[in-house]
Order: sequence, then C-alpha cells, then structure tokens
Amino acid sequence: MLAVVKEKPAPGVVIKRIPVPIPQKGEVLIKVLYSSICGTDIGIYDWNAWAASYIKPPIVIGHEVVGKVIEINSTSPTHLKKGDIVSSETHIFCNKCYQCLINNRHICENMELFGIGRNGGFAEYATIPIKTTWKNDPAIPIEAMSVQEPLGNAVHVVTKAKVTGKKVLVLGLGPTGLCAGAVAKAYGAKEVVGINRGEFRRKLAKKMGFDRVLSEIPKREYSSFDCVLEMTGNSEVFTVGLEAIRIAGVFVAFGIPKKEVILNVGKYLINKEITIKSVFGRRIWETWFQTTDLLKNKKVDLTKIITHRFKLSEFDKAMEIMKSGKAGKILLKP
Ligand SMILES: [Zn+2]
Ligand SMILES: [Zn+2]
Repeated sequence: MLAVVKEKPAPGVVIKRIPVPIPQKGEVLIKVLYSSICGTDIGIYDWNAWAASYIKPPIVIGHEVVGKVIEINSTSPTHLKKGDIVSSETHIFCNKCYQCLINNRHICENMELFGIGRNGGFAEYATIPIKTTWKNDPAIPIEAMSVQEPLGNAVHVVTKAKVTGKKVLVLGLGPTGLCAGAVAKAYGAKEVVGINRGEFRRKLAKKMGFDRVLSEIPKREYSSFDCVLEMTGNSEVFTVGLEAIRIAGVFVAFGIPKKEVILNVGKYLINKEITIKSVFGRRIWETWFQTTDLLKNKKVDLTKIITHRFKLSEFDKAMEIMKSGKAGKILLKP
C-alpha cells in the first residue's frame, strides 16, 4: 500500500509502498477513505524540537482519518462491525492509570499517540485500537468525519469556557480556532470576535459565522471580553489575551506556546481575578457525542473549512500549501 513515512529523524517524508498492516489483538484494520493534515503534522514534517523528542522513525504519520472497517481482531464482542465508517481518537489511553479510572482518559498518564507514537493514517490502510475507534453517524458528510479532531478540540475549549450569552474572543484562526468560533456561535455566544493577521483565515472565519473578524484587538475593547480562547500558541498573543479579558472573565489556553509565557500574576490573576483554564485534546467520548450533534444537526458546517483536496501521493505539494497559511483544512485521498 502507499504510505507517507517519516523514515529518518530529519525534515521531509518519503512516500512509498509498504505492506498492509495486520491488526493485532484488540485492533481493527481500516481502509482509509480520507485523511486530513493537522498543524501537528507540519512540525513532524519539518522535524521541530517537539517532533524530535516524541517520534521514533520509521513511522507512518497522520492521525486525522476516516475509514471503513475491513477486519476486526477481537475475541470479545465490540461496538464495531465490518463496513462501519470510523474515525480514530488520536489519544490512545491505557484504561489502567488513575486518570483513566476517574474518566479522564484524554489525559491518560501512559498516553500513546496515533500517527505520532505508532503508525497512523496517511496510508491506504491503517490499524487502530478498538478502544479508540469512533463509529461515525452515517448522517454526517464523510469529508467532515475526517476533520472531527480539530472540531473536537474546539468543542472541548468552548465547553470549558461556558460561552452562552457571552462576548467571546478567539485568538488565532487556524482550523481549531475557526471551529471554536463556529461552535461558540452554535452554543449561544452573544458575540464572537476572531483575531488573525492573515487575510485568508479572516475570510474563512466570516464564512464560519464569526460576528467580527479583525487583524488585532482594538485597545478600546481591552477588558471587555467575557471569554478569551487562546488558540495561537504565541506567548505574546497570550499576554494580549490577558489584556482583552474582562475582570473575572474566563481564559482558556489551547495553543501550545513555543516559548515560556511571562505572566503578570498581580495585574491579571489577582487584580482582575480571572480564571485560566487549559484544554488538552478531547474528552473521550463526551466530546465526540457533542461533535456528532453539531455535525448531524447542521449546527456547524465543517466542509466550509476544507479548502484543498489532494491525492495522498501529492503529500509534499499539500504540505507546501498547508505551510503557506493560505489553507483551511487539506484533505488527502489515498
Ligand atoms: Zn491533529
Ligand atoms: Zn491511562
């Protein structure tokens, strides 16, 4: 089968033919229908410090995927049958540690990552643990099924921020930021304002239903936002978000800063008495049930952020466009 392989601990990938994987006990084999490129994949492609610390090549990359179940290797009954259209939860939990036992499987202490710590979905076939296989509702558009991971992150962020009736600021309009604005609207935010330097992403945000989209926060609106969703992972933007939030507002950190963030505890935490929350991944499976509701009942239209479609063999070209900032989500078809 054709697969995108990170073959060496260096920038780039190799697109090559490798054997179809054999599902181990407790795994399914899927025929990949679509996969999509995540921001994380850029770091893996470029081989940044994070990728170098996590990934042990050779490995098939890609974790956002939708596919059809071909084979199930299990001796006990499962929630799956052959022919089901499924997606993979990237965070493979152990089901044994303290966090797993108290229903916090998304922050499992022994997490393994699909397409990062083990072979993933930029291939014609992939194996997924049965425990992290999500059976999709057939009413959802198939292309959207591949893009549920960023939507799920956004749902988790917006749910933690409690946006109903609130003025919400979304900092950074990458795919997860775009989804966060759409979800905030769906969950009854009073006003959703998106900030991004790039015009391409600002236009996408308008399509996704943001009320206002700007290149920076007007100073007169400092201390006026009930909720600030930090989706950039830029340490300077993080601080601007603390200026923008109102007294006793809720700040949710999602983007992972590459540098340390200097936090003025007196000015923001104490004088403003704000609440800072953080989000890692999606709650398993609560978030997935929420994304299903949003997609099935057309409260969010994910196909609007899919801007490009490529064949898997054109992966390098797709990555180039992804890195240009002039793309929403890019779909790959094996
Ligand atoms: Zn991802
Ligand atoms: Zn665990």
